[in-house]
Amino acid sequence: MTQSTQNEFRVKFWGTRGSLATPDKQCGKAGGNTICVEVECGGHAIICDAGTGIRRLGDKILSEKKHYSINLLLSHAHYDHVEGIPFFGPMFSRDYTIEIWCGKLDGSANTFDIVSGFMRRPYFPVGPEVFTANSSFHEIVELQSFDISPEIHVKTIPLIHPGGATAYRIEFNDKSFAYVTDTEHLPGETNQQIEDFIQGADLFVYDASLTDDELPQFETFGHSTWQEGLRMAKRANVKRYFAFHHMPFRSDDELDQIELEISKELPGSGVARENGSILL
Ligand SMILES: [Zn+2]
Ligand SMILES: [Zn+2]
Repeated sequence: MTQSTQNEFRVKFWGTRGSLATPDKQCGKAGGNTICVEVECGGHAIICDAGTGIRRLGDKILSEKKHYSINLLLSHAHYDHVEGIPFFGPMFSRDYTIEIWCGKLDGSANTFDIVSGFMRRPYFPVGPEVFTANSSFHEIVELQSFDISPEIHVKTIPLIHPGGATAYRIEFNDKSFAYVTDTEHLPGETNQQIEDFIQGADLFVYDASLTDDELPQFETFGHSTWQEGLRMAKRANVKRYFAFHHMPFRSDDELDQIELEISKELPGSGVARENGSILL
């Protein structure tokens, strides 16, 4: 690997759909796979969430034979964020070391519990004992920071979501990526903790499941709006903001319109689409 590749900080979307995989024609441009984001920096592979998008990412990792140490950061355990774990190819290879991280969630004692909890009958035919990778499971306590390498630092905050969720800020080489999904905001009220957390980020990806108009009818669902993401991004001097976690009913046409509005106010920003790749 060249020195320049080592210093690169790249983020790629493998799944941007929230709630449920949506292989519908009118969603083809943004993609129908559920939540999965790949981060490459300092020669490391970091994955944020393991929705259905992680299947193709696993194929890529296996074919590239580049990253044998993988950190998977789970925001929480709703199906759209974990359902791809049993289909992630590197989990079935002894060549890989895979560290799986998650914050404390209601109803689960630890991160292994979270994975074994849905990989069991009658929901799934086999349990995590089928994995052959050298995998380990880590719990994140509230507001914990940790290092993936001496150069890669990760900060966390808890989010407002049914059962709990965790946001991650990955810092490398004086650049930062803030990954903030799933979370709800109260109309007209700033979540100051998130705004402080994303301060000056080079890239901010946010739960923009809804629009401000739709929010009242989805109260307590635990989601936010693309407008709220944009307001926070501007106040926090974020360089680029991408609306993410698109609802299954959100069409490509609507997303194009949302992107137009976002990019008018924050050039270089927009909506997250599958296969979209951003160099920080
Ligand atoms: Zn979700
Ligand atoms: Zn959720």
